[in-house]
Amino acid sequence: MSNGKNVLLEVQNLKKYFDTPRGPLHAVDDISFKLFEGETLGVVGESGCGKSTLGRTILRLIPSTAGKIIFNGTDITHIRRKDLRELRKQMQIIFQDPFASLDPKMSVFQIINEPFKIHKLYKDKQERFNRVTELMEIVGLDPHYIINTYPHELDGGRRQRIGVARALALNPKFIVCDEPVSALDVSIQAQILNLMMDLKDELDLTYIFITHNLSVAKHISDDILVMYMGKMVEKASSDRLFENPLHPYTKALLSAIPIPDASYKGKEAEVLQGEVTSPVMPSENCRFSPRCPLAREECFSASPEFVEVEDKHYVACHLIKKCNN
Ligand code: SF4
Repeated sequence: MSNGKNVLLEVQNLKKYFDTPRGPLHAVDDISFKLFEGETLGVVGESGCGKSTLGRTILRLIPSTAGKIIFNGTDITHIRRKDLRELRKQMQIIFQDPFASLDPKMSVFQIINEPFKIHKLYKDKQERFNRVTELMEIVGLDPHYIINTYPHELDGGRRQRIGVARALALNPKFIVCDEPVSALDVSIQAQILNLMMDLKDELDLTYIFITHNLSVAKHISDDILVMYMGKMVEKASSDRLFENPLHPYTKALLSAIPIPDASYKGKEAEVLQGEVTSPVMPSENCRFSPRCPLAREECFSASPEFVEVEDKHYVACHLIKKCNN
């Protein structure tokens, strides 16, 4: 417990490797963290860093290779199929592309109603209809106009609101938001982000918010975890990460924000040079070493430990020393 809050999710040394003809691809490699009830953990990194795979592994949409996932005090790492179904009510996902994630042959009513059919809830038709319309209103959609429309008839913002309504249908505690605003026009992104923040407070939700956009992560997250090629490289409160980024990769990501956030006092944009390490059978080095402007000999032979360098601020870099408290 921290600040009176319980740990809702604990991930311990989680790994997800995929078999490839060249050997195992280390998509998620030794990830550990705790997420408290009502908080949002932003997970950021470039595409291919493993952040979406991490979200799907936590939700048990794909099996893990090693490690533990503890949700609400229960180890769900190897939970049986029939228990997984019950767990699905508490853990949901919102996808990046609302157009691709909504069945074009289903009406808005059918899409939001689908979880009730799967879980055999609300057998009374009127009760079910009322719940669907209630969910639509919660996410700012007017049932009167769109309940019988189809996804292709709606704009991206409304489609994503339908995705959010569907995710909320079973009253979950926890939602993995996988790049939920990346496919939307900039003008609509803020509306959806604000909706998600309001819903979090009103419905007491806990989020993992996956994004490649650090400004978006800062806007919505309590803490931010930065991933690079499957590894954790830095984790801190979102304010602290912007005030005092320590890992060279985090600094490069922050410097690349087009209009630098006023809270990050970094220098001009840093263009990363060098090859991206292959995640297939990676060697025991710092995975960022081929691109790191500060790399030195030990970086090419040993993987840095992920250590606490100031209160609740963790970094994996040979140049950053562990705090002594
Ligand atoms: Fe750069 Fe070395 Fe730190 Fe890796 S361990 S981020 S290569 S300085």
